[in-house]
Parts: sequence; C-alpha cells; structure tokens
Amino acid sequence: MKQPELLKSAIAILQELVAFDTTSRTSNLAIVEHIQSYLDNLGIESRLTHNDDGSKANLWATIGPDIAGGIVLSGHLDVVPVDGQHWSSEPFNMWQADGKLFGRGVVDMKGFIAVCLAMAPVFRRTNLQRPVHFAFTYDEEVGCIGVHGLLQDVIANLPLPDAVVVGEPTSMKIIGGHKGSRSYQTVFKGVPAHSSDPSLGVNSIMAAARLVSYLESMQQDLVDNAKPDSAFDPPCSTIDLGIINGGTANNIIPEYTTVQWGFRLLPDDDADQLQQQVFDFIERQIVTDMKAQSPQAGADTKVTNTVIPLLADEQSPAEQLIRHLTGLNESSVVSFGTEAGAFQHANIPAVVFGPGSITQAHQADEFIEIDQLGQCVNFMCKLADRAAANH
Ligand SMILES: [Zn+2]
Repeated sequence: MKQPELLKSAIAILQELVAFDTTSRTSNLAIVEHIQSYLDNLGIESRLTHNDDGSKANLWATIGPDIAGGIVLSGHLDVVPVDGQHWSSEPFNMWQADGKLFGRGVVDMKGFIAVCLAMAPVFRRTNLQRPVHFAFTYDEEVGCIGVHGLLQDVIANLPLPDAVVVGEPTSMKIIGGHKGSRSYQTVFKGVPAHSSDPSLGVNSIMAAARLVSYLESMQQDLVDNAKPDSAFDPPCSTIDLGIINGGTANNIIPEYTTVQWGFRLLPDDDADQLQQQVFDFIERQIVTDMKAQSPQAGADTKVTNTVIPLLADEQSPAEQLIRHLTGLNESSVVSFGTEAGAFQHANIPAVVFGPGSITQAHQADEFIEIDQLGQCVNFMCKLADRAAANH
C-alpha cells in the first residue's frame, strides 16, 4: 500500500476508535475486542492483561519474529471526559474540516493508535528481522495506571524489546525526558463541637490550613533553588494543591478535612526526601499540636498515585532510533508525565514521539491535523524498512 492509502486507512480506523467512549471511568473492553479482532483477521495474535475487577484491559501484540529486541509502539486507549465542555458537534462521532479531524481522543491519543493499526498489514507483510510490538493501555489519563500490569506481564513472560516509542502528541518532535509526579491525600481528623467554645473541639480546617501554608513555603523554596540551566519549564519541581474539602456548617467545629496535594518532580530531584519533609511536618508539628488538644485528633496520609519520570538520555537506543529514522537532531523535555517513565524504569529505553499537538489534548473540539497523521505514517514506513533490514 502507498502512503496516501495508508493515511486513508488510518483515518477510517480513527473514526471507529473515536466512536468507542473510552473515558477512563468506563470499561474499555469493547475497544480492546474491536482491536483484537482486527489484528486476528490479519493473523496477529495479541494478549491481554486486566485490571483487578476485569473491566479494563491492556493489549500487547507482536508482529514478526518471536525474539528479544525490536520496537514497541505504545499508546493509551482511554480519553479524558467531555463533561462540562462545549463541543460544536458530537465528540464521539469524528468529523473533518479544514484539513483537521475533530473528536475526543483524536490527538490524545487514538490518532497514533490508528496509524499503528493501519500499518499492521504492512508490518505483517514485511519480512521483519526484528519484531514490532503494540502496547495499548487503559487508565493512563488517571495516572499511568494500566501500563504497570502490562509491563509485569512482558517482563515475566516475554523476550524484552529494545526500545519504546510512546506516541503522545509531540508534533512529531522527540521528547527525551519528562517530569514525574506523586499525589497524596491527607485526611485531618478533628473533634467536632459547637463553635461557641473552640476549646471543646479540634478544628480540622485549621490543621489543614497549616499544611497548605507549609506547601506554599516549600513551593517558594523550590523556586528559589531552581536550576537555571534546567531544560524543564518551570525549571524546578513544583507543588500540586488541587482539592480541599472540609466542614459542614459555620457553627460546628469541623471534624474532617481532606487535602489532595502532590509534587511534579524533576527526574533528578529526590522524591522520597521531599515527601519525607512534608510527612515530618504533618506528624511533628500539626498532629502533635492536634493531639495536645485531644488524643482523638490526628491525620492520615496516603499516596494516591505515582508517575515515574523519564530521564533524558540522548544515547538511548530509543532516541537514537528516532533520530536515525527522522533525521531529527535535537530532543527536548516536557513537564507532563507519560508512560515512557514506567518503560524506562523497567529497563526498556523510551522516548515520547507522536503526531499532533499537546495543546489540543483534553480540549473541547480536540483535533489533529491530517498532515500530522501523514507524517506519522511516513515515519512508520521507515520503521518497517528498518525492522526488515538485516543489520
Ligand atoms: Zn495522552
């Protein structure tokens, strides 16, 4: 097939993929089944790894020889919600205008997956000397969760690949590194009482406010100690403080207050140390004072999510491969997390490289330029040639 036909095929497949509402909160089994039967028809076997309740699955498929090495093309099947967004047409019914395709997930990141699938017959027909793998995951948008089960399965049961391309939208530029993140939920438990005598209770909102101020001062420290030569923007780790909930009425001392907070971390910052700093403050300062008022008061913190950072490495086989195939000779870093960090952490070198712009992701009227999909098809054709080569 020629490239224009492959692009046409990718667009048709994308239309089908968009029609599955794979918002992270819903099951993705229908789209997984759809992809599985498509691959099946091409004689390509795939394997699934499920989440705990079996409602979602990752898909892994290998084309070519069953040997170590080769390249993984990786993308997530879930999309962010359309709730509260104003779309000019039905978000799960892809439409085309001005050289662009519109719909939920077209750029983040079903467009890349559609190109992978459109290329599957080409990979299948090519006499590949090294394998091409597909890794399609669930629950990326809610914290890169699904990929861990997929990686466990690959590491335990399959020959390890050489490199991974995570096809998040980078406008077909190489992203060699990204920040990681850790998210926490702290619940402050106070003691309720009528607010007419504050000494009878312990105020959980006041306790939470101390954590908030502490995070604010920590944020300032991080800014003050930013590394001016860092490739990241902003050039330091940063604090997330997104949700706070507490209290029931103005005349009741609030019993529970919940704070959701976290870090976005430079790959070389010590996450454990930053975490310990906050944990120590909560225990030694806030909880100690609360318990002095009442032994029933306290605080409980749990980690709600971790995204592993991607350490930039220009010499990695993943980045070298993309440079070789595209002729690109520079790479950059971004402050958002992807599944690439998890692959690298599992000793599979990874880069982020895919069609479309990240600025379109998560927006109403999300779109991808058809030209970007075309560039991605072109890249994949070079990849097929390379995987067919003997050296
Ligand atoms: Zn994404």
